[in-house]
Amino acid sequence: MKRHILFGFLLLSMLLSGCSREGTLPVSMTKDGLLGTIITLSVYDAGEDSQNLLSGCFEKISDIDSRMTVRSPGGEINALNDSAGANPIKVSGDIYRLFSLALDVSKTSDGAFDVTVGPLVRLWGIGTADERVPERSEIEAARGLVSWQDVLQDESEGSVFLKREGMLADLGGIAKGYAGDAASDFLRENGVRRAVLDLGGNICLIGSRPDGTGWRVGVRNPVVGESGNIGTLRLEDTSVVTSGGYERYFEKDGKIYHHILDPKTGYPADSGLLSATIVCKTSALADALSTACFVLGVKKGAKLAESYGAEYVFVTDGREIIVSRGLSDVFTLRDESFTVRPPLQGGGEETS
Ligand code: AMP
Ligand code: MG
Repeated sequence: MKRHILFGFLLLSMLLSGCSREGTLPVSMTKDGLLGTIITLSVYDAGEDSQNLLSGCFEKISDIDSRMTVRSPGGEINALNDSAGANPIKVSGDIYRLFSLALDVSKTSDGAFDVTVGPLVRLWGIGTADERVPERSEIEAARGLVSWQDVLQDESEGSVFLKREGMLADLGGIAKGYAGDAASDFLRENGVRRAVLDLGGNICLIGSRPDGTGWRVGVRNPVVGESGNIGTLRLEDTSVVTSGGYERYFEKDGKIYHHILDPKTGYPADSGLLSATIVCKTSALADALSTACFVLGVKKGAKLAESYGAEYVFVTDGREIIVSRGLSDVFTLRDESFTVRPPLQGGGEETS
């Protein structure tokens, strides 16, 4: 336990139960603060190794957080940002690979997801003490620096270069997913076959429930001011990631300004979606795609998800839920004030 105290996080709780190798109750650990969120990890089949394995997961997540964060000084992403326009920075292998994935989704989403969204994120400051609605001129200036095309990777050097001064990389839309993958890999490598990892709503599922059925994952009501789950998904051995405007926002003059920004406008995305949930094996990919789809809206979002073989649940501001074909049998509606609508052939809801 000493090791946990050393982390110095706000909250640490452990629920110890079901210590048999194939127990039906998990051993769980919760921490608040890493990756800017609350993380709860639960393993079901590791017996007395559970605590050590969970500690090992949190060490991995803590390491990823400290290297990728832009919230505090130090870290590789800050070093990269400090050298924008000047010189490339050699980064860790995992950050290099994560950039490759982030740039791939930046490209395929036509910049709806943009790993260089940092200048806009900083300007709006949503979720910080400095949050405000910026002047249009400020937004235009920041938008001019958002440009995934100006990120260069050199594979032989293992370096990343932000070509223009003032550019800022921001992995906030993909880092939680990556941390989930890293923790899942660590558990699998150590023989765990049943676990649920919840990184602030980014869920990684290992195996199935002890009774052999799928885990039940809730899809939250994304309407600001409402709560509860509007539906549930029965899933196993996969990852489920949701992006929603309700997660971080402020209100000004009766208008909600949330944290997912549309690089094309410089304002919070306004695609008609209140949330985008993506289901696919790799959580980093699910994370990037959920952010991208939230910005793109139903039709383009569905096409993008399909192009990666990912499944989705989109919730619109018209209280409609669009469930991809691969999830239709495992989705259950829990709130009758929403209507489920299947996607039309070829992605999206309608032709235009
Ligand atoms: P998520 O909750 O995964 O959708 O990620 C939201 C976070 O990603 C924000 O807090 C920003 O740090 C970052 N972000 C915001 N807008 C974008 C965007 N269009 N593309 C990539 N990252 C974004
Ligand atoms: Mg994301």
